[in-house]
Amino acid sequence: MTNAYPNTELHIAGKWMPAAAGETIDVLNPATEEPIGNVAHARIPDLDAALEAAEAGFRVWKEVSAMERYNVMRKAANLVRERADEIGAMMTMEQGKPLGEAKIETLFGADIIDWFAEEARRAYGWVIPARMGGVTQMVVKEPVGPVAAFTPWNFPINQAVRKLSGAVAAGCSIILKGPEETPASCAALVRCFVDAGLPDGVVNLVYGVPAEISEYLIPHRTIRKVTFTGSTAVGKQLAALAGAHMKRVTMELGGHSPAIVFEDADVEVALKVLTANKFRNAGQVCVSPTRFLVHEKHYDRFVEGFTEFAATLPVGDGMDPDNKMGPLAHDRRIDAIEGFVSDAVGKGATLQTGGKRKGNKGYFFEPTVMTDVPLDARIMNEEPFGPVAPISSFSDFDAVVAEANRLDYGLAAYAYTKSVKTAEAIGSAFESGMVSINHHGIGLIETPFGGVKDSGYGSEGGSEAIDAYLNTKFITQAGL
Ligand code: NAD
Repeated sequence: MTNAYPNTELHIAGKWMPAAAGETIDVLNPATEEPIGNVAHARIPDLDAALEAAEAGFRVWKEVSAMERYNVMRKAANLVRERADEIGAMMTMEQGKPLGEAKIETLFGADIIDWFAEEARRAYGWVIPARMGGVTQMVVKEPVGPVAAFTPWNFPINQAVRKLSGAVAAGCSIILKGPEETPASCAALVRCFVDAGLPDGVVNLVYGVPAEISEYLIPHRTIRKVTFTGSTAVGKQLAALAGAHMKRVTMELGGHSPAIVFEDADVEVALKVLTANKFRNAGQVCVSPTRFLVHEKHYDRFVEGFTEFAATLPVGDGMDPDNKMGPLAHDRRIDAIEGFVSDAVGKGATLQTGGKRKGNKGYFFEPTVMTDVPLDARIMNEEPFGPVAPISSFSDFDAVVAEANRLDYGLAAYAYTKSVKTAEAIGSAFESGMVSINHHGIGLIETPFGGVKDSGYGSEGGSEAIDAYLNTKFITQAGL
């Protein structure tokens, strides 16, 4: 396995290339704050080239049979598997997560490509019985056209591969704006598709100033579909722009997931699963459990167990296999998490453990547990996206449901209970796109992935995921 970190180029019309103006953006290792490489910075001439390529690539790819799309994608998936060690190391160097997590994310990416490859062969329509003899009424599925996709830095492969695979499987071309903070692993994923034999222009990859790129691509007449993963605030701006230009949209936005531990729950199981998932990727996960609502019977044990886990979690450079939590991905997260903690403490919260930056080099933050956090604290209302767990107690089912559904977010929700009746009641009461009861079962590619309310719309998993890249066409034909 090589630990070299590559500079990242743009990929346009089948070629890897620097930006036309030669500009680059530095990439830092968040564990050291040292520059480790750079990424090409696209401007308008590069975007024009990518748009032209996507237009040409779409004309070619939409005519390619589903079987051939399947074959190319299966090859791409196998290349991802072959290169997983190398890609995982790049991801840890640029993003910070432990190497084991980075490699699992990469391998899971290969499974996602396989899933969509198979979906390509199942994207067919149907025939509707006609009212009159001699008439045939057909519903056919066609690729929507060139796609503009915007993906973030927290899962450089996972966020990109769902969009890439969905678009390519459906017969679309795509311009992917990858994450500038974590460009190399995302580019390595694109390279697997290219090396598998995709025709030129089907997949194009750019980086730059996110707002400059989205404001240029979304209104452009070449682009027929927009898909974005990131914060709710940015998602609303992009959805409004897409709406003004009548583009189809998928939005995977922020969350603020409630995690309820009921009176009859196995509190040790709840602790084991929820602690592991809270601190995975240093809490920078859209479906991370965020508001811990624990029945008063279990509250003391839950706070004690959570605090012990957080206080002893090995935090450090993700390249060292002993470390279970790496740094935050960039300095903006450090500022944000410090702000959430000081705001809560200022409003009366009690710090059980953590609460500050760890060390003076690298964007490390202590795994943090807080209690007595008032509802008007920012962390109880805004997505924290970091390793901070606010824990509260409750005694009443209706009150805890009201708290779980209090916010405008509706991405994921969790509950622990041994009662089938409570499980059924909470499963239907949560205002959330995804619900997981007594385990953490969210994010598998064969199951739907998406939110409701301010967490967005559309699904990037399950049998409906490919529909985001397909138009439905009705053809009725009478015999002569
Ligand atoms: P941010 O809101 O500026 O950016 C979030 C993502 O959106 C980044 O990938 C960024 O490149 C992109 N982006 C921002 N403005 C854009 C624009 N005008 N056009 C196109 N893309 C744009 O903030 P950030 O500091 O990078 O992250 C902070 C917040 O973003 C987090 O608190 C979290 O809520 C959210 N976030 C969510 C996810 C997710 O998986 N849903 C991933 C990353 C970040």
